[in-house]
Amino acid sequence: MSEGLIYKTFGGLPWTPLFVEEIDTSKCLGCGRCVKLCVQKCLGLESFEDDEGTERHIAKIANKDQCIGCQSCGSICVRHCYTFKEKSA
Ligand code: SF4
Ligand code: SF4
Repeated sequence: MSEGLIYKTFGGLPWTPLFVEEIDTSKCLGCGRCVKLCVQKCLGLESFEDDEGTERHIAKIANKDQCIGCQSCGSICVRHCYTFKEKSA
C-alpha cells in the first residue's frame, strides 16, 4: 500500500495536500469565485447556452498540474461542488 504525500507547515506540523479531483458541474452556479481565488491558476470557466438560449458558465479544472492541494477552491464554493484526493508519494 502506498503512502500519501506529507509535508510540513511553517510551524513544522504535518500537512497532507488534497489535490483538486472533480467539480460537480450539476451543482455549479458559475459564480467564478473559485476561479478568482486559485493562486495557482488551475481553474477556469466554461460557457454554454441553456435550454432557453441564455449564456451560462460552469467551473472547470483547466490546469490540474499546477494544483498545490490547498483546497481553497472548495472552501469558498457555496455549492460544495469540489472533491479532493491525496496523491501517493
Ligand atoms: S465557487 Fe462553486 S458554484 Fe462558484 S463557479 Fe466555483 S464551483 Fe461553481
Ligand atoms: S486546491 Fe488550491 S491550488 Fe488546487 S485548484 Fe483548488 S485553490 Fe487551486
